[in-house]
Amino acid sequence: MQHYRQTWMFASEAGGQLFGTISSDAVSVEIATGPYPGDERSRCRYRSNSKAAQQAIEQQAKNGSLYLGEWHTHAEDRPSASSLDSDAMQRLIANSRLNSSALLMLIVGLKKTADGMALFTVTSDASKQWALSSGD
Ligand SMILES: [Zn+2]
Repeated sequence: MQHYRQTWMFASEAGGQLFGTISSDAVSVEIATGPYPGDERSRCRYRSNSKAAQQAIEQQAKNGSLYLGEWHTHAEDRPSASSLDSDAMQRLIANSRLNSSALLMLIVGLKKTADGMALFTVTSDASKQWALSSGD
């Protein structure tokens, strides 16, 4: 994901899917896939190629990794979710067969510190932002 941070002025948004495991005490994001050829990418919009996204979900399932949500970049130091982002997540939840009642949405901004990322848990009726801190 760091590779696709939009540090170049004309860089397009990038993104993909998050995979990992869920246990009783933790959700572990272990793999981030994408971006894919055929994605819809511009300076301030990103939508995964849905066929490629579905293939990634099936591929990761074979390796025992659950689909946990989506990531994409923003050209902001401290990213915030746009109404388009929220709409897209609601559509995903409505139209997907999911392992859980919630999906993660991670937005990767320009800053390399913890406040350069925004992480949300999105359910069909709410979106909650996590407070992030660096692990060390
Ligand atoms: Zn966005």
